[in-house]
Parts: sequence; structure tokens; C-alpha cells
Amino acid sequence: MLVVEDSRPFRRLLEAEIRKAGYIPYIASSIGQAETILNQNTDFLCAILDYCLPDGQDGEIIDVCLSLDIKVIVLTAMMDARTRERVLAKTVIDYIPKDSPSCVSSIAPLLSRLEKNYQHYVLVVDDSLTACRYVRSLLERQYLNVLEAQNGQEALAMIRRDDRISLVITDYTMPEMDGVSVVKALRKLKTEGQLAIIGLSGEEDSSLTARFLKAGANDFLAKPFNQEEFYCRLHSTLNALDTERRLFHMANIDYLTQVWNRRYFFEHPHTRSHKGPRNLALIDVDHFKKINDEFGHHIGDIALIELAKMMKRYFPEGLVARFGGEEFCILYGNDEKGFERRLEAMREELASTTWEPYDKAFSITISIGMVHANASIDTLVQRADRSLYQAKTSGRNQCVKDNQIDVATL
Ligand code: GH3
Ligand code: MG
Ligand code: MG
Repeated sequence: MLVVEDSRPFRRLLEAEIRKAGYIPYIASSIGQAETILNQNTDFLCAILDYCLPDGQDGEIIDVCLSLDIKVIVLTAMMDARTRERVLAKTVIDYIPKDSPSCVSSIAPLLSRLEKNYQHYVLVVDDSLTACRYVRSLLERQYLNVLEAQNGQEALAMIRRDDRISLVITDYTMPEMDGVSVVKALRKLKTEGQLAIIGLSGEEDSSLTARFLKAGANDFLAKPFNQEEFYCRLHSTLNALDTERRLFHMANIDYLTQVWNRRYFFEHPHTRSHKGPRNLALIDVDHFKKINDEFGHHIGDIALIELAKMMKRYFPEGLVARFGGEEFCILYGNDEKGFERRLEAMREELASTTWEPYDKAFSITISIGMVHANASIDTLVQRADRSLYQAKTSGRNQCVKDNQIDVATL
């Protein structure tokens, strides 16, 4: 992080704040000093610049950084309308009014927002190319990845095929499908935890805000909007989305192995409802207690993590969950032979893999109970469990297939 600030107390505060947020500050107190730093290095996440410096009192430092493609956050004590306009006319990330020493505390959340923005893909939906480009430039300035669609149909097609998109910003007035209809259609495809939506409109219609929100948008902005308001709403929408995703992750992913947990598995729509037969396997590590006893719990944990990785690698389209302890479950489509083949291949690969932490080599094996049937989830689990028990009693390190005749398929 580059910091250019001539006031020593502020420099100290900024430095402390930036270090606390986990970044390394490069500090200058004038444009001259900043140029010395920039001659050596221009690779900064962004620059935090004081508007008024001894060798440039009118924001000259901003242009120096922008000309080197460095993104800029401006600190300014001069909050008169003219300065504000002039700062905002430049392509800066944001500006922070230097009204009290506590103003630096807004830097850390802003930096963490910018850092997270790299992961977000935003789809801008507007039939006006100029409007699209303007919104794009505002978003890109904050490290967001931007995609564009000229109408609602195109937007829906993009959302269907591109899972990376986490935010849609849609205009209201468009040919064929208006923005509110776009929002309604999007909400049929994605929940609020999957996709955030902001509506925009230049219409004078005062009922539009409510219509956008009722259709499922997270927020709404009237055009022409103020850049600061745009960023404030953008940040609060993305912050809420990130929080929701973090909570979802915490509630549904097993902390140790990073596969789905038991609750998520049983609540998943694919688990609850089905059309026709499907595959399920219960997997249990053999004599796992011995691994713990001999090598320690920590090594046991590593074995579980490696096994979970392997299951995700072999069954990327399957629903892989940790049921508890050293027992896992995989729910996987209808291809019986393919499923069996992959289970066998995975079992063999695992049995022939050795790990060597702390120079004592060990390997693990698994027993598998597999079932392919047109049955409820509870029945599938019950039958797989019976097969797993057989696999254990017939010597472990093997896959036993349920052989009960499935009445429904006769
Ligand atoms: P079997 O072949 O019959 O399945 O024998 P086993 O030893 O694997 O089965 P048992 O149910 O007797 O023991 C399971 C062990 O798994 C006991 C428990 O301490 C261990 N375990 C459960 N959860 C974890 C975990 O998260 N980490 C580690 N390291 N061990 C765990
Ligand atoms: Mg100053
Ligand atoms: Mg076991």
C-alpha cells in the first residue's frame, strides 16, 4: 500500500491501521518522496493519498498515481463542494473525509472489501452501451470483474451458464423485458444467498423502488446517481452477500474435511426427491482407531482430509458428505456401472497410497457399501449400511453392492 501524507500524526495513524489490516505500507510525505518510491516499485494494491501536499496542493499526486495505473483512495480535509466534485471527477476508488482521527478506521473495511471484490463477477444489464460502460468503469475501479448483457434474455442465459456471477445490476427501461421482470425471472433461478441484485432506473415513477424490491432485488438506485451513493449501496449489498455466504458455508460444510455435512446432505433437494433409481455409497475407514492410537489424532485428521479430497476428485458431480467421525456418504446419479467402477478405482488408489508424516509411513483402507435403487433416501442409506457391514465382516478394504431385488424396477 502506498501512503502519501504530509501530516505526521495522520501518517502514524494510517501506518498503524494499514499494518493492522495486514498490508505493508510504503510511506511518503510529499510528491517528491512518492516519486522516489514509485521509481522502484509500482506494484501496489492501491494508494492512499492526501489531497493537499506541500509540493502539490490541488490533488496533483492523484494524477501521478493514476498515470501509473495505481488505484487511488483520496483523503481530504477540504470538503467543500468544489474539491469534492474535482476528486470525484477523477477515477478514484473512493475518498475519505479527514474530519477526525477516527476517519482512518474506515480504511480497513474498505481494503477488505476491495480484496474480496476480486472474487466477484458482476453482470450489468442495460440496452444503452454508454450506461453499461459507465457502470462498468465504476465497478472495475473497485477490482470487480464485469460482464455485460444488452437485454433480459441475454442476462438470463448468462446467469444459467456462468456460476461465477454473484451480482446483477439491471436497468429498468429495456426493450422486450423490463428490469422488474428480469429480477423476477432471476429470482426463480437464484436465491439471495447465491445472487444479489441491484435495480437502476431513470424513470420518474416513484413506485419503482417498491416494485424492484418486491420482485426480489436487494437494492435500488435512481439515475442519475451520485457515485458515492452507488459505492455505498454496492458495498452494503456485497457485504451482505459475503456474510450470507460465509454463514451458509459455516452451517453446511464440515469444518475439518470441507465436504458437505450431514444436515446439508439430508436437506438437499436432490436427496429428498428423485425420479427413478440412483446410486448411494457409505464409506467407512478401516481400523481408524488404530491410526489415531498409533500416530496421533492429528495424523488421523490428515488422513480424513486426504480421503475427502480424493472423494471430491473421483465424484465431482456427486453429493459428497461427512456423516460423522470417519464415515462418509456419496449420492451420485443413475449410472450404476460407472459409479461402481469409480468407487473401486478410488478404493484401490487409496489402499496403494502411503503417507509419510514424521518418517513413519502409513496408509488407510476403506470399506464401502453401495446401493443402486429407486428408493427414498432413508431406504438407500439403510441398504448401503447393511452392505457396508458385510464389507467390514468379510475382511474390509472392499466394496459390497446391495443385492436386494428392487421391486420398483421389476
Ligand atoms: P472399523 O474398521 O470397524 O470401522 O474400525 P474403526 O476403528 O475405524 O471404527 P471405530 O468406530 O471403532 O473408531 C472410529 C474412530 O474414529 C474413533 C474416533 O476416535 C475416530 N474419529 C472420529 N472422528 C475423528 C476425527 O475427526 N479425527 C480423528 N483423528 N479421529 C476421529
Ligand atoms: Mg496535507
Ligand atoms: Mg471405521
